[in-house]
Amino acid sequence: MNEPTPPSAALRIRVAVDAPQHSGISGPLDYLSEQALPPGSLVRVPLGRRELMGIVWPGESDQDSDLAALRPILGSLDGIPPLSPAWCSLLEFAASYYQRSIGELALSVLPPQLRELDAAQLKMRLKKLDKWAAEQAKAATADASSAPVKPELSPAQAEVLGQLDALLGRAEAPPPLLLYGVTGSGKTEVYLRAAEHALSQGKQVLVLVPEINLTPQLEARFAERFVGRAIVSLHSGLTPAQRLRHWLAAHAGQAELVLGTRLAVFASMPRLGLIVVDEEHDPSYKQQDGARYSARDLAVYRAHQLKIPVILGSATPSLESWQRANEGRYKRLALPERIGGGAMPRVRLFDMKTLPLTKGVTTALTMPLLEALRKRLERGEQSLIFLNRRGYAPVLHCAECNWKSDCPHCSAWRVFHKGDRTLRCHHCGFTQRVPSECPTCGNQDIAPLGRGTERLEEQLQEQLPGARVLRIDADSTKLKGELEAQLQAVHSGEVDIVVGTQMITKGHDFRRITLVAAVNPDGALFSSDFRAPERLFALLMQAGGRAGRDAEQAARSEMWVQTWHPEHALYKALALHDFEAFAKSQLAERESAGLPPFAHLALLRAEGRTAEAAKGFLEAASRWARSLPEADQVLVYPSIPMSVARVANVERMQMLVEASSRGALQRLLWHWLPELHALKREHKGLLRWAVDVDPLAI
Ligand code: ADP
Ligand code: ZN
Ligand code: ZN
Repeated sequence: MNEPTPPSAALRIRVAVDAPQHSGISGPLDYLSEQALPPGSLVRVPLGRRELMGIVWPGESDQDSDLAALRPILGSLDGIPPLSPAWCSLLEFAASYYQRSIGELALSVLPPQLRELDAAQLKMRLKKLDKWAAEQAKAATADASSAPVKPELSPAQAEVLGQLDALLGRAEAPPPLLLYGVTGSGKTEVYLRAAEHALSQGKQVLVLVPEINLTPQLEARFAERFVGRAIVSLHSGLTPAQRLRHWLAAHAGQAELVLGTRLAVFASMPRLGLIVVDEEHDPSYKQQDGARYSARDLAVYRAHQLKIPVILGSATPSLESWQRANEGRYKRLALPERIGGGAMPRVRLFDMKTLPLTKGVTTALTMPLLEALRKRLERGEQSLIFLNRRGYAPVLHCAECNWKSDCPHCSAWRVFHKGDRTLRCHHCGFTQRVPSECPTCGNQDIAPLGRGTERLEEQLQEQLPGARVLRIDADSTKLKGELEAQLQAVHSGEVDIVVGTQMITKGHDFRRITLVAAVNPDGALFSSDFRAPERLFALLMQAGGRAGRDAEQAARSEMWVQTWHPEHALYKALALHDFEAFAKSQLAERESAGLPPFAHLALLRAEGRTAEAAKGFLEAASRWARSLPEADQVLVYPSIPMSVARVANVERMQMLVEASSRGALQRLLWHWLPELHALKREHKGLLRWAVDVDPLAI
């Protein structure tokens, strides 16, 4: 390559570059620059034969390295202000905690388009943003007469905000606030008031929500309240150009409110003064590949780092947060009642054992449930039926020879989708047309076993002719705009019964729903994942929260749970809407079993061409771990296959590492993981390995 020779006056700078963890580059690299560049500046650098974007990183470069051996940077994007030292240290913490290289993580959270533009193009974009911010402010002055109407605070809200004020008035950093209140208890109003306070002091506010689908609704509410304030959203549903524009607006300080999903926790916001994490218990806050970070936990870190308040809101807080509040490390603030006195829906646990057992009769739609649905139809009210399984039936079956529709590439069944008459594997995507006869014995009578949302929809239409049934799940909302249209149809009353997966249980404010039914939720009671009951409880509480948000409707609202285990403690607590009792019993179980939040976990996963290859690697890794100085403070469990062991012909194994202290776990990982890169080379059949710190799904 033809590179200019570095001039003698060149300065040594550290640059974080986008090199993956397995390249062995974990920290920033040294380069030469003719001008001094402040930390956080974006630069272009050569790496091998490639040209990459990098970030000038704070800290001392290696003064002993040979200056002549360093390569000069190729240019800097000096039109855009540098990323702040606080941002760099947030990224440094996240990279170290989740065991990724700094550059890889830091560059992966910047908008991809940033890499494609040169300094002149960026300057243009920034200029346009100035104009945009000025227009927002002008619109606000023009609009000043129509100041937004704010509801008068309820006594509970006033109390919560008073406590927040008191915490902000102290000299020390406020503790994280856990805002605990059921759906409709007025949490969002508290976020709005807290945001108003921060904005009035010239600060920026970051609001995180678990799902993209929930951003438009929240954005509308913030926009209505903060007329003239510059609001942007940040999530993966934006076009690359939008994402760059919104990110730049936050980074340049023009956007005062940033609403977004988990990736927004890394938004560069120079005047950040408040972070809100809505539905803080939601598993979507945990990234499930690459750097498996928890946006909720990083939000808490970020707030602590900046000494600003963070509000974690939920009706069913994660047991981690709940326990921290029990220990006094988080401040718990409660909104115990629904605004307007609306009651929570009455929970009916319907005991499936009381049904007469008739062979061949399908039981998802029991007579009493149909009766309850009919009543809603007569009164012109809506119902919502929740079944966490999409497709028509989870498996096709031949009664003659016992053939089942397994996937040839995975250890899983292929799901029967009746709409397009396909058998589809939900793990690898392998899809075929439904065979007209059994592929092994030729029997023409192959039948679906079990039930998914498609079948439930069909049965509802058969049983309740004339009812307008709408199915909402990942299949019905594949195309852009479909989900919005479907939700709109529910809102405007064009639908009587909504059938769907957990997609419909979250956050959507459906006013006319007076019946919410979970027809088959028992699976989670017996899952091997210790968090399954916690997730089920949250899901059912949240689903129930969809019903009866208007006080007069609340009186006749019902949450219907069909179960074979009505005596189960989880359902008993649900029937009383008693999260606290549920949390108490779960925490007691976790404590005696030595599980989080009383222990800290990491999961090492390995994927191989054969199960033996994956297992061999994990066992060698385990032996290695046991030779490390921290070995006596951690427990390395035997490796086991993942719950779906084979996906797309790859065998997947995992191994759990447990420690009673976070520090010990972190130290072990730091000594251990770098060695695994070398270990991988010795295990030929191994394809990949990865670590998940604080794993959510086990
Ligand atoms: P949550 O976020 O806990 O579900 P919201 O803040 O959305 O609760 O409040 C539920 C409903 O009550 C919303 O329609 C909201 O506009 C209304 N609301 C909230 N606080 C008040 C209040 N103090 N007075 C009157 N209405 C309120
Ligand atoms: Zn057969
Ligand atoms: Zn498959």
